[in-house]
Amino acid sequence: MKLLIKNEKIINRIVRQIACHKRFLITTHVYPDGDAIGSQIALCILLKRMGKDVGLINSFPLPARYKFLPNSGLIKHDVNLPYSELAFVLDVGSKGRLGNMRDHINNIKTVINVDHHLGNDRFGTINWINSHMSSVGEQIFHLYKYMKLDIRKPEAICLYTAIVTDTGSFQYSNTSVETHLAVSELLETGIDHTKICNQIYKNIPVSKLKLLQLALETLSFDAKGKIGHMFITSDMYTKACATEEDSEEIVEYARNVKGVEVGILFKQHSNGNIKISFRSRSKIDVMKIASKFGGGGHHNASACTIKGELSSVLKNVVRVTALELESS
Ligand code: 5GP
Ligand code: MN
Repeated sequence: MKLLIKNEKIINRIVRQIACHKRFLITTHVYPDGDAIGSQIALCILLKRMGKDVGLINSFPLPARYKFLPNSGLIKHDVNLPYSELAFVLDVGSKGRLGNMRDHINNIKTVINVDHHLGNDRFGTINWINSHMSSVGEQIFHLYKYMKLDIRKPEAICLYTAIVTDTGSFQYSNTSVETHLAVSELLETGIDHTKICNQIYKNIPVSKLKLLQLALETLSFDAKGKIGHMFITSDMYTKACATEEDSEEIVEYARNVKGVEVGILFKQHSNGNIKISFRSRSKIDVMKIASKFGGGGHHNASACTIKGELSSVLKNVVRVTALELESS
């Protein structure tokens, strides 16, 4: 089977915008993940190969686990913004996910929104939204192909990282035949996928394991074992010497328990906000549940943020989730 380039019409519009501008900004969401960072660098390499000036600026710092990516040092935060004619916003379903980059984006004439979230609110001047793509990494791969640019090792490492992290190592339902065809082309560049996966998944800081240990002590079940939930308080972060980055993937432990349909992780932030991550097995739509609390995401992975006291927020969210399970 041959890989067909998807979304040619919208990609063509984007390519024309690239051709007629010189100064670019690429940004992504708060608490950036592998898809956010990998796609950002791969797109930067593409633009630099076209002779463009590119700034990579986020509202949050680069997570330590992605420092191994080529050119990761180009990603900045908390810096004065250079003048940009065009901004690419990657992996962002709504402007609220941009943190303090939101105001900066409002001052840029052309905003290109490249995303794969189903509920994307199309805030860009141009919106390339494809919820059938596993990741923005897969979208940027199609941009390279459309532009007939050969994919070299540095961008292949970044795109592989974007795709492998957003598909849960090719386990989630967003992994398609096309995803595997794209990845096979990335592997053909000669990248060492074992080395990349070791960097991402087998390089765990002790703080992360300590945080997991504390979170697992809170694991409880509701709705006859169909809901598994855990919480992390700000004290637990302190006790484990951990940061928010260390909490990535902990929610999966709740969802992966036998019989659980929805896994929920409640994280208490020092500013009084409670961040809630939902994960489900294929049938249950957690985007619907997160949307009820002002959040969003994907069918099987969503999140929202609520202000309030941890135990009452937990009770209420579990109650709403149980009702949703009953009706589905
Ligand atoms: P996570 O639980 O890993 O932080 O997020 C799961 C999914 O939900 C991701 O696809 C992410 O884009 C989305 N998401 C995370 N936080 C929020 C949020 O506050 N609002 C919305 N709309 N989506 C979110
Ligand atoms: Mn993504």
